[in-house]
Amino acid sequence: MGTFTRPAAQPPSNPLDHARAESEQAPAGGPAIEPSVESIRHSVADDARSQAVRALTEALIGRRSVTPDDAGCQELLKARLSTLGFHCETIAANGTTNLWATRSGGRPGPLFVFAGHTDVVPPGPLDAWASDPFVATPREGYLYGRGAADMKSSIAAFMVATELFLGERPQHQGQIGLLLTSDEEGPATDGTVQVVDRFEREGRRIDYCVVGEPTCSAQLGDTIKNGRRGSLSGRLIVQGIQGHVAYPDQADNPIHRFAPALSELAAHHWDAGNAFFPPTSWQVSNLNAGTGAGNVIPGELHAWFNFRFSTASTIEGLRAQVHEVLDRHGLQYSIEWSLSGNPFLTEPGVLSAALSQAIESECGIVPKLSTTGGTSDGRFIARICSQVMEFGPPNASIHKVNECIRLADLGPLAGIYRRTLDALLPV
Ligand SMILES: [Zn+2]
Repeated sequence: MGTFTRPAAQPPSNPLDHARAESEQAPAGGPAIEPSVESIRHSVADDARSQAVRALTEALIGRRSVTPDDAGCQELLKARLSTLGFHCETIAANGTTNLWATRSGGRPGPLFVFAGHTDVVPPGPLDAWASDPFVATPREGYLYGRGAADMKSSIAAFMVATELFLGERPQHQGQIGLLLTSDEEGPATDGTVQVVDRFEREGRRIDYCVVGEPTCSAQLGDTIKNGRRGSLSGRLIVQGIQGHVAYPDQADNPIHRFAPALSELAAHHWDAGNAFFPPTSWQVSNLNAGTGAGNVIPGELHAWFNFRFSTASTIEGLRAQVHEVLDRHGLQYSIEWSLSGNPFLTEPGVLSAALSQAIESECGIVPKLSTTGGTSDGRFIARICSQVMEFGPPNASIHKVNECIRLADLGPLAGIYRRTLDALLPV
């Protein structure tokens, strides 16, 4: 478990109150060009905000929450949320822990949800890490540890943003919700999808959802994901007849049969994409045939393939086109299809405007909207929420050894979430 400065059960004090007290005690005098009292207050407050996010990020990294083990992350958050007046419900299934927490500001308005995951991918070879992946370690302006970027810092930043927001605006319009799971990095069958299924059964909807996945590339604030491509996989078996290579007339070579169909599928133009998505792609990930002997024509060929598809194509359409090609080439075959996720898309609107404005105010840059990358839990939430956006820190180190987050990004990340709450849940 990592070192952390704030015990779980301690009620959260408002980091800004603490910061103001420090500001008032700041020694007089100073540099030749004296900064205004207001600017000192701001920088001290920014520092307190950053320290609060860092302390919670460190505490979360210290909990070894490899999928589906939550390792106490959600209990830590629950304690702080309960202190703020959130109603917290743990929904556990098959070793996965999900937390659904809500708090109403007491006035009518939209439901804003922050969604995320407390689980992390395994660290991989420990000796490849420069420090223990489950002990948050600062080095040269970065904080290292598994989950530092994906996505314990986002969760910590949203927690602190919520504390600051409620400290100043406890009677806001609408409701804040947090939807956390410990099964995002794994099969994702007992996590967010379970809670979404329940919401669907109960006819409940979410108005705005921000998923705290690490979406930025070069710097904090450069990218919001407003959708994700769908992922459709197939396991193809092409049947042939095994035989001696010297007697091909008595065999049927599935490699020879599949080769022209493969060539056609690989060159196929599935769609042109659209304003938000690149064209759909089809890739073979595994191709196996052969007995290992040089004189045997194999009886079967196995090929695994995957579509990353846009909203310009449908699952049925893609499946039909694959079958059409294979049938036309006269193959004897079977395909086991599996859908990892439908694509989702949120057109620019109220949520993207609020997030973009918050980023611009905090980071001084205008974010771009993107739909690249793998699948996320946004694909489930989109079923009950028409405005789902993903925003979090830079993702260059995620799932790698020496995963890290820039320390200077922690405060601004909380600031972005805070400004988004200000805009969507006014007093
Ligand atoms: Zn993630």
